[in-house]
Amino acid sequence: MSLTAKSFDSTKTSKPVVRQTLNPRLIQRSPAPHGQRLQYLQILQTELTRLSGNPKGDAATQAIICKCLDLEEDIALKKREIYRQAMGKLCMRYKKATMEDYKKELDEERVKATPAPVVSPTSKAGLENAKLPLDTGLPKPTELTRLRDFVVGVETLKKHSYILTPPTAAEIEQARAGVEAAGGYETCERCTQRFQVFPGRRISDGALTTGGTCTYHHGRKAGPRSTPGTISEAKWTCCGGVVGFHNGCETAPTHVFKVTDPKRLALQLPFSKTPPNPNIKTERALALDCEMSYTTHGMELTRITATAFPSGKIVIDALVKPYGVVLDFNTRFSGVSSEMLTSASPWRPTAPYPDVSSTELINPTTHSPPEKLGIFASPSQARKALYHYIGPNTILIGHALENDLLHLRMCHEAIVDTAVLFPHNRGLPMRNKLKYIVQHFLGREIQVDGGDSGLKGHDSAIDARCAAELCRYRIKEAEEKQKV
Ligand SMILES: [Zn+2]
Ligand SMILES: [Zn+2]
Repeated sequence: MSLTAKSFDSTKTSKPVVRQTLNPRLIQRSPAPHGQRLQYLQILQTELTRLSGNPKGDAATQAIICKCLDLEEDIALKKREIYRQAMGKLCMRYKKATMEDYKKELDEERVKATPAPVVSPTSKAGLENAKLPLDTGLPKPTELTRLRDFVVGVETLKKHSYILTPPTAAEIEQARAGVEAAGGYETCERCTQRFQVFPGRRISDGALTTGGTCTYHHGRKAGPRSTPGTISEAKWTCCGGVVGFHNGCETAPTHVFKVTDPKRLALQLPFSKTPPNPNIKTERALALDCEMSYTTHGMELTRITATAFPSGKIVIDALVKPYGVVLDFNTRFSGVSSEMLTSASPWRPTAPYPDVSSTELINPTTHSPPEKLGIFASPSQARKALYHYIGPNTILIGHALENDLLHLRMCHEAIVDTAVLFPHNRGLPMRNKLKYIVQHFLGREIQVDGGDSGLKGHDSAIDARCAAELCRYRIKEAEEKQKV
């Protein structure tokens, strides 16, 4: 790699980095003449080079120069009155130091520079994410037993669009004929335009979709609906544009679609009922949340998270390689990006299923970025891993879990759904958003894009734990009512 005058090691950063020379930084009121400041810098450079083991190479030299400049500047600014004394002391300390001492110092600096798991103590809305998990006053195994009281009945599951019976072979065949007849035409989920999809790419030019770019609003319509003869005053929540007058505030390279018909979904991966699991000896419950992205097969699973109840300890947290080619990662919501999928290594189970009594409760809104997420080779592999930890009677907790189970093609009846536990006051099909229930009942804030954690999109671990915490809220409430 050739070095230009202005940059070094361009492999590590996309922006050219200004090349530093051992020249005292310009500050408003210099604490000493230039020559003297330079002298101190030269001593520092000699000592730090020695302490670093006389490294070769431009990057190492630059790192040392930067450190010298930072150290000197810090003293020049903060200890101006006693500059000479402070610099003399610093130089002496490094002269006396051994390589071992210096290594220790660097390690300590590194620890300080690594941000701790971010919990925003008080959000803009005044909600407290740092507070402890709820205290139900019940032992953890009892919480698990009480959770059974909130299992949703089969009829309610059906009303909430849960698929409890896999589509039949005849139904799937019918769906196949329908798909073939449609010639790849779909309706865009975002802008409603009709377009064509070529899951195997169009032979003539390799295209995946037709219809060009997609211009749309990512927000929802809010405000009064238009009535005949009047102009709508409804506005888009994303940009404030008047509904009907603004085409869209965002443009994406392609249109996208979503398949919700189970018969058609079964063409990709057949549905299955959770199989019996002889390994599960005691009661258990898991909170589940999945993230989806748009692909040439519609909307597909790209991340799955399952946490143990009530602790919130991660059981599975992994990316999923979808069957189709990704058209849009939907990162705003899914938090999943192309880089994440391409750089992930295969998922491996890390620890045995956590013991219910001895596992500490995790703060449900802690965003602790996983080291690096593993990846499942397909949605079917993700489901197989989940089946390893659950049986047909294992309670699955989640918010509007019918959608997650639909994309996992799972028929599961032991469900505690927070959309059912905290229903919308206008009833179905209206549903409260998880974000709203968490705010209202737990006083915490989630799904804030680019919040204090710098998080993009939703974090399925937080969403799963919050759904579980809402169940604990209902358990606590029931317990308190009983006492009265
Ligand atoms: Zn908009
Ligand atoms: Zn579109």
